[in-house]
Amino acid sequence: MWATGVARDTWYGTVARPSPKPPSFLPRKSDRMTALNHTHDPAARSWVASANTPGTDFPIQNLPLAVFRHYQEDEAFRGGVAIGDQVIDLARVVVVGCLDGLAAEAALAGAYHNLNVLMALGPKAWQALRHGLFDLLKEGAEGPKVEALRSCLVPQVAVEYNVPAQIGDYTDFYTSVHHSANIGKIMRGDNGTDPVLPNFRWIPVGYHGRVSSIGVSGQEVRRPLGQYMPAGATAPEFGPCKRLDYELEVGMYIGQGNALGDAIALGEADQHIFGICLLNDWSARDIQAWEYQPLGPFLAKNFATTVSPWIVTMEALAPYRQAWERPAADPKPLPYLDDASNNAEGALDIQLEVLLQTPQRTAAGAGPVRVSQTSFRHQYWTAAQMVAHHTVGGCNLQPGDLLGSGTISGPTPSEAGALIELTKGGREPVTLSGPGAPDEQRGFLEDGDTVILRGWCEKAGAARIGFGECRGTVLPARSVA
Ligand code: CA
Repeated sequence: MWATGVARDTWYGTVARPSPKPPSFLPRKSDRMTALNHTHDPAARSWVASANTPGTDFPIQNLPLAVFRHYQEDEAFRGGVAIGDQVIDLARVVVVGCLDGLAAEAALAGAYHNLNVLMALGPKAWQALRHGLFDLLKEGAEGPKVEALRSCLVPQVAVEYNVPAQIGDYTDFYTSVHHSANIGKIMRGDNGTDPVLPNFRWIPVGYHGRVSSIGVSGQEVRRPLGQYMPAGATAPEFGPCKRLDYELEVGMYIGQGNALGDAIALGEADQHIFGICLLNDWSARDIQAWEYQPLGPFLAKNFATTVSPWIVTMEALAPYRQAWERPAADPKPLPYLDDASNNAEGALDIQLEVLLQTPQRTAAGAGPVRVSQTSFRHQYWTAAQMVAHHTVGGCNLQPGDLLGSGTISGPTPSEAGALIELTKGGREPVTLSGPGAPDEQRGFLEDGDTVILRGWCEKAGAARIGFGECRGTVLPARSVA
């Protein structure tokens, strides 16, 4: 379908890699990842019974992707698609040959140890894979190819996951106006002036982050050591971070990128996003407060970032698009960040929550406690605007690049996406109250705490889809020599 580049040998054969810039990959308007089609039918059911369970994250309308292998087995990671409580093994899909044409080509690309080759194939291929699997998985489907697909199912309880892409570059944005206002007051004082910096309403603010410390859900995060300036002191101290925090974010994986020097127009930006995951941008607030001026976060952020294993595709999210709005008094975006499609359907209503599990609760056999709940729809800038802004100066995005949304905080205090906001800089600790264990207080995270992010989309007239979870646990700092 497109010019091919370097061939690559794998255990199942030789796969052609896509050229850096294949011609005309964009689907017709009606096939775009934002359009609704039969794969969104809320009445659709699967012969995989667990996919029909009310409240499941992975019904037939979702079909998110991850890379997985059998738990602690000496075997290669490969791509998989979630259906109910099962994973469809894409490497086995290739072996049994239950898909045809572009869908088969996409499955082959997804059988690598990461999803970069599939990401590079572009939205026509992603759509072919989704639709091919949907047709085989739906209730009533029968025949040898359905039976062949049945042999590709692996129970999710029997697998482990890896970071799903070889991430070349990771950028973290700062696109919640509520987070920006809350943090502005805490970092710079509440002095009656606008706590939101003047550039925020014109620019999707971001910084270039660190890839090497990105881990998948289940990551154990060692409390970082670093410098911080105690209040009233004249010289910094060095030691374990005392104000360790999480940030509730979503991550966007880039599919096809752009050539160096080119830009991705706002109207095309969604076609360049492979899908969305949950992301925890662990943050050392005391280290951050001392180091962040003038160049932004550094050691406060580079010790760990945790992502969910599952990537929900833009096509699966299509029913949950909604109008993107900002207050009438705010500036109209510059032309490269403004178009009718983004205004009409640029926002995504992804509901999100943060839960904490503490050592005390674990010891008592009690489950985690929810500390906040909000939605991605509140962000001041959309995913498409982030992509358009990132590339407008000629920066090239590449398949597998990861863009973080920035902390997602909603308009009310209980919708704050980080402890520093929930606790007003640690001054007003939150009470963790739930059945099965005594109440506890938290200003910031303590050793042994597990942060759990969850996300889902749900509304009348559409199937509920979910993101699974993104989980990470705080380990004690290494000893200071
Ligand atoms: Ca962040």
